[in-house]
Amino acid sequence: MSTLRFASIEEIDAHNEQKKNGYGGKKITDFFAVNVFTGRIMREYLTDEAYKSWQVSVKEGKKIDRKIAEQIASGIKAWAMDRGVTHFSHWFQPLTGTTAEKHDSFFTLKADGTPLETFDGDALIQQEPDASSFPNGGIRATFEARGYTAWDPASPPFIMETEQGKTVCIPTIFIAYSGESLDYKAPLLKSLAVLDKAAVDVCNYFDKNVTRVTPTLGWEQEYFVIDEALANARPDIVQCGRALIGHAPAKGQQLEDHYFGVIPERVFAFMQDFEQEAYKLGIPLRTRHNEVAPAQFECAPIFEEVNIAVDHNSLLMDVMNRVAKRHKLKVLFHEKPFAGVNGSGKHNNWSLATDTGVNLLAPGKTPRTNLLFLTFFVNVIKAVHDYADLLRASIASESNDHRLGANEAPPAIISVFVGKYLTSVLKEVESRDMESFTEQDEQILKLDIHKHIPELMLDNTDRNRTSPFAFTGNKFEFRAVGSTANCGSPMAVLNTIMAKTLIDFKKEVDGKISGGEKKEIAILQVLNQYITDSKNILFEGDNYSDEWAEEARRRGLNNFKTTPDALAVLSEERFVKMFVEMGIYSERELHARQEIVFEDYVKKVQIEARIIGYLASNYVLPAAIQYQNILIENIRGLKEIGLEEEAYRAQKHIVATISRHVTQINDTVEAMIGARKVANKEPDMQKRAKMYCDEVKAKFDTIRYHADKLELIVEDKLWPMPKYRELLFLR
Ligand code: ADP
Ligand code: MG
Repeated sequence: MSTLRFASIEEIDAHNEQKKNGYGGKKITDFFAVNVFTGRIMREYLTDEAYKSWQVSVKEGKKIDRKIAEQIASGIKAWAMDRGVTHFSHWFQPLTGTTAEKHDSFFTLKADGTPLETFDGDALIQQEPDASSFPNGGIRATFEARGYTAWDPASPPFIMETEQGKTVCIPTIFIAYSGESLDYKAPLLKSLAVLDKAAVDVCNYFDKNVTRVTPTLGWEQEYFVIDEALANARPDIVQCGRALIGHAPAKGQQLEDHYFGVIPERVFAFMQDFEQEAYKLGIPLRTRHNEVAPAQFECAPIFEEVNIAVDHNSLLMDVMNRVAKRHKLKVLFHEKPFAGVNGSGKHNNWSLATDTGVNLLAPGKTPRTNLLFLTFFVNVIKAVHDYADLLRASIASESNDHRLGANEAPPAIISVFVGKYLTSVLKEVESRDMESFTEQDEQILKLDIHKHIPELMLDNTDRNRTSPFAFTGNKFEFRAVGSTANCGSPMAVLNTIMAKTLIDFKKEVDGKISGGEKKEIAILQVLNQYITDSKNILFEGDNYSDEWAEEARRRGLNNFKTTPDALAVLSEERFVKMFVEMGIYSERELHARQEIVFEDYVKKVQIEARIIGYLASNYVLPAAIQYQNILIENIRGLKEIGLEEEAYRAQKHIVATISRHVTQINDTVEAMIGARKVANKEPDMQKRAKMYCDEVKAKFDTIRYHADKLELIVEDKLWPMPKYRELLFLR
């Protein structure tokens, strides 16, 4: 009898006693952002001079001088120590996909041995996370051995509070000494700056008062929650965050009874607990609900400036992992933890806000604001059209490959959905003969866009849930982002390609204006051209259908189903040029990033290959053989008492079937190990990733198929790992 599986099932009842109640009777506003060095706190702890210069630095991206940094550091220290904090840490988001921190205490000794608590400007501004080794695509190895973290004043310090103690965390970027970025935040910040400039320039055609444009992000995070003991009884879930084998349960999600259903009590307690932690950190969570698959859930905050929203998402994932432990639960952020039921995504709702309070992707109310809306709307479509491959590459990861292309997630083909009404508006603009465009034609701007959009889109009647990139009334929703992803990657690309498109747009419009064209007409003429140029990226139908894959191929849209293929485009001359021109990545930096993702891909497939091989050889085959021996013993007994073959015909058949599956599993595992050995000899990381994809990962399905067949044959009590029905339904 398999002890670990059944012992873990028995533990569940005890785990249910871990429940905690709500927010302790408090209002959310009572504790929202209590652990954040907010503007209000700054005023309290900083001199006027320090406060003002911090504000200016955040607004204008200006450097804070040493003297002021000194004052800010001492303000942060005073605030933190008033709250029982003993340590500080630079907090950053390296390309490992998790967050990183290295704690140092405020405590130090003076030369004469007097103990003292300090936190100076230098420690605030820069640190060297020396002891750690982070992926760097060869940059740090070949050029400069060290990397350092540098303070991002635009994201406020926060206190990370665990039952063990409190640490004040300073959000930072992570860069090599030779200057290349090694994290998600540095390119994101650069993209914000270029987009700000480009968007303000275009806004100024319409309104001279706009001096700043900031992209906004509202992410929706999907995740699974399962019992910790059950998770621990599965080496694949412990090490890979997903089930590598396991037959789908008789009842999965086909009854559609989980979506928006009543949240299970134990999960609800967990949600309230992590929400409380999140609120303290200033993460403005708003929504929680069940998702489609059993044991799948979602949470979403109120949208924020992209930089803050990205930090908050990374932080929340950490908080959720930590709080789950208290509830003896395990959170799975993996894009496809369980084959056969829905996977998880992280929808990135993205828009552009001006400092005059205008959402540039919200349809206007007057002809003038209509044109402003149309300008930004069409430029987004053009940007996605021209750089669809970069968007695809920005969300490529080993785990997201399981989702893109599966039939419940957006496909790997990037397209844009805009809805019926806007489709007709675009057609209308495009159909105008711009050569003979006269001022009377300006009536086109009098389209009642603002009346129709809210009606059609905000009430959900004109939505397409299958689109990877959908307009949803006042924002675009990038739905193909994976649930484990750091939003910084897709957001940096989206901001950058938008900036590039707006810059080119302005050049063309200015050219026409200096040729004597009226401003509005010039803008419409370029928009007209852009619609024609980019309309093949627009798709309103079912993105999950085979017909779309066919149609997309005819249109010449790429369908990169795997990470190695999706990532290869980063070497293309035109993309490299664009990133360099926009100042986001140097050629070497871009190459290093590509290497990092290839390497990450190889490592992840390698780990999964080891685990699936281990599960097959050490769990599945022994259980199958044990059951087979019981049958053989039985056959022998039946023979012994003199029964004819007919009496043990069924047993014999099962014995033979088991042998067939056992042979298949054994042979495929051996072939997979062989393929790994060959791939490991390939020095080129891109080629190696491709080999891991085509030769190693490709064998998983066969191993799994036969293992899952055996699960249905072998006596239940001999099966060593918790089954899907237990993982997904027991809590
Ligand atoms: P749903 O798409 O699930 O029906 P909503 O349309 O209300 O729900 O919003 C989904 C997400 O979009 C939320 O996380 C919200 O914060 C975000 N969102 C709303 N407006 C904006 C905006 N202007 N910019 C960025 N995100 C936004
Ligand atoms: Mg959703």
